[in-house]
Amino acid sequence: MTQAQVSETRTGPGTEVDAVVVGAGFSGLYMLRRLRDLGLSARAFEAGSDVGGTWYWNRYPGARSDSDSHVYCFSDRFDEKMLAEWEWTERYPAQPEILRYLQWVSEKQDLRGNITFQARVTAARYDEARNRWDITTDGGETVSACYFIPAVGLLSKPNIPKFPGLDRFEGQWFHTAQTPREGVDVQGKRVAVIGNGATAVQVVPVIAQQAEHVYAFTRNPYHSLPARNHRLDAEDWSEIHAHHKEIWAKARDNFGGFPYADFKGMGSDFTDDERQQIFEEGWRKGGFPLAFSTFADVLANRDTNDQFMDFLRSKISTLVRDPQVAEQLTPSDPFCTKRPPLEHGYYSAFNRGNISLVNMKNSPIAEITPTGIRTADAEYEVDVIILATGFDAFTGSMLDLDIQGRGGLGLREKWADGPRDYLALMVHGFPNMFMLYCGPFNPAILTNAPTLIEQQGEWVAACLQHMREQGYDYIEPRQDAEDAFVQLHQDTANATLIPETESWWTGTNIEGKPRMLLSWCGGFPAYRQLCDDAAERYDGFELHAS
Ligand code: NAP
Repeated sequence: MTQAQVSETRTGPGTEVDAVVVGAGFSGLYMLRRLRDLGLSARAFEAGSDVGGTWYWNRYPGARSDSDSHVYCFSDRFDEKMLAEWEWTERYPAQPEILRYLQWVSEKQDLRGNITFQARVTAARYDEARNRWDITTDGGETVSACYFIPAVGLLSKPNIPKFPGLDRFEGQWFHTAQTPREGVDVQGKRVAVIGNGATAVQVVPVIAQQAEHVYAFTRNPYHSLPARNHRLDAEDWSEIHAHHKEIWAKARDNFGGFPYADFKGMGSDFTDDERQQIFEEGWRKGGFPLAFSTFADVLANRDTNDQFMDFLRSKISTLVRDPQVAEQLTPSDPFCTKRPPLEHGYYSAFNRGNISLVNMKNSPIAEITPTGIRTADAEYEVDVIILATGFDAFTGSMLDLDIQGRGGLGLREKWADGPRDYLALMVHGFPNMFMLYCGPFNPAILTNAPTLIEQQGEWVAACLQHMREQGYDYIEPRQDAEDAFVQLHQDTANATLIPETESWWTGTNIEGKPRMLLSWCGGFPAYRQLCDDAAERYDGFELHAS
């Protein structure tokens, strides 16, 4: 079937469409809008009962974005009028406000009619004879599409450790990504929070204000940086609106996709005192500039990294009164080799009388009892257990779609020794499948999400446009292009300190998952350049009409 024939089926929701999108978070909504711009029919399937993706599921106390709000939205290139209309209330928007934003986008852009909610995709099969994908949901519906576009996010599959006895716990327990929709009441309760990553760092200080007692079960500490959240007022917004084009242009050229000042240079170009001053300045401003506006070699040069670690150690020791607790909250992994959380009173929460740090490294969890948690050397009676234990990142959500490509090749089989793809967008053996923001090796770990989603979405839209112009309806990356990209990714990763650290970035948080850095770490501009170069002549792809 040619592209022209496919487009004739444009009749709105139906069982034969041009494209199926999976997920209705930032990336799914973005793609639906772009497909409509191209005049293609599309349906999206979303497991939740509303749009929002991550921001639909993650309703835990304290949930908020770690990106500055004025760039945690769609840019001028998506809809300039909408950009001018929306004003966030804080530097870092909280989950309810982000959810409202995405609901507003879906309504303003009239996208909801294309989305089937409470429908989880359970299988996706490529049919070679028809050059079509058949996508099946848990409701038993099967839809046929020329293009299959997973937009399932990279942190969607919760990691729920198999603690013995968890099913017999008589209190309330939940994973942070499955926080009850009606909310959580911890007033006057004893609460255990297991984990100390970016999620727990947000949860702990908020619930410590309400709970009778919080037990913060901690293992390998993270490099939490001060968020410095504040309200945004009319003056802030008139400034932001007046400069939105420059702001977004800067973000697109920045290593992390943020409108921050660029790196000051290499750490080795500065004296110790100068470096110290630069770190102090970043600490005062708060947020990710400490990683993205300091030294370009912080990820690769152990000396520069060590100096930051000394700086962080001294900060933690001034923020946390008890030196033993401070020590247990101080990370030993190099800075930024796992995701630095932004903290809103996390360290100072440990100065409260109603919080205890439980060190799982010294004393691992042995079992969950009906009334609490038993470690190797103590027992903690609790009413609520919050699992802030993270996600089976990138591959977890993709593999759950049960995807079969050309010749019946399963994605699970193809990725058995670790994922492989081309540009984090397409996979050899899986024609016409585009991964939006969820493809392994995209630069998400170090990039502002909307900046990357728009870049990838624009790439996919331009590719579909190119195919239409050329009369093609088949695209698949070549094996040699995929191999070269994966090699480049690995070489780039190995030039940094990141692969040495265990976390979801390297897949080590999930038992049996092959260890490899799952995200590009060479910066957003370099990644975008690779994508742009690949689309010059599409040399790395096989393209034709079926
Ligand atoms: P995470 O960073 O993977 O942290 C999980 C925590 O649970 C770690 O402390 C880990 O300890 C612990 N853990 C896991 N399995 C365990 C087990 N079996 N026993 C004991 N402890 C266990 O997960 P997360 O905090 O949910 O964050 C994931 C990512 O989500 C972040 O890195 C970030 O990208 C994103 N996020 C973003 C925001 C935002 O932008 N606002 C907020 C929250 C999260 P070990 O490290 O010792 O394994």
